[in-house]
Amino acid sequence: MSKFTFPGKKKLIDSVTPIIRLNNFERSLDLVHDEIKIYVKRDDLTALGGGGNKTRKLEYHLHQAALTGATRIVTTGGLQSNHARLTAACCAHQNIPCTLILSNNVAIQDDEYQSNGNLLLDSLFGAEIIKALPGDNFGELTESVISQYEQAGEKVYFIPLGGSTAVGCMGYVDAAIEIAEQEREMDTTFTHIYVANGSSGTQAGLIAGFTLLSNPVYIKGYSVLFDKVVTQQNTKRLVTETLALQASASSVFSVNIDDSQLGKGYGLITKDMRDALECLARTEGLLLDPVYSGKAFAGLMHDLKAKKIARGANVLFVMTGGTPGLFAYSRYLQN
Ligand SMILES: *Cc1c(COP(=O)(O)O)cnc(C)c1O
Repeated sequence: MSKFTFPGKKKLIDSVTPIIRLNNFERSLDLVHDEIKIYVKRDDLTALGGGGNKTRKLEYHLHQAALTGATRIVTTGGLQSNHARLTAACCAHQNIPCTLILSNNVAIQDDEYQSNGNLLLDSLFGAEIIKALPGDNFGELTESVISQYEQAGEKVYFIPLGGSTAVGCMGYVDAAIEIAEQEREMDTTFTHIYVANGSSGTQAGLIAGFTLLSNPVYIKGYSVLFDKVVTQQNTKRLVTETLALQASASSVFSVNIDDSQLGKGYGLITKDMRDALECLARTEGLLLDPVYSGKAFAGLMHDLKAKKIARGANVLFVMTGGTPGLFAYSRYLQN
């Protein structure tokens, strides 16, 4: 399928995720006039565990875990982490025990946030859940949990935040190759890709993938976790490491980050996010999430309304999943 060397993966995704065009949304913003077409890549439709972008990275991580003879997966995230939920689901599918160490790093205290959404699903998938207490040093807590398992004779494979390592990024190199094949089938060339950027692996994997393919598509990431400078550094480092995994020393790639949708910070709602979420739900019947894709889609809508996207553009927005998060935010998303 490709000329690149892959570190090998567990198959957790059965088929290519669809790309569909948003005809109603285009009409609602009168984009037809400027011959701008908007498509979405449905990476929210990966089948396991409610779906989402982390499954592509987990295909690679769980393969590495098996190679090292791991008896347990440990990962970290926020209370409403989609990555934690998908790790729990994929571990259930692979029949390997899973421990989630979750930090309460978002200043939202209501019951839904504290127990519904992703957290509800984590426990249904049978994950061991350890919640950090206020004042805990998260790094030390993680190390002590891992060393306790090791002292008990377990072999732990640790997946860092969001699964964003070069190995994890290979999942989005795969996605870039998949998108390029879909472009050929659809006889379309995407000029822009819009995506949310949290731990940066998704955007970095896409950049690495399209760089390896020598495809010059413009990729814009909306940072939802760190500011522009930090996100740019993290993304650039991951692209470089991922290219190095492919024995490619290419350093000719650009990392475009926009932090205008971050609002007051990670996991905190913004009016633009809510408007974007409602707009896509009401024009297309499609669900974004409040933490990542809702903010990125708000950025796309801003660029469209400000006429920053040239006439004739074919824009691909990557739907990255996260719908369980909607239920954690019910209080903030209802009238
Ligand atoms: C994690 C996540 C992202 C961001 O992906 P990163 O690789 O962490 O940048 C985007 N959307 C959703 C729904 C996510 O859960």
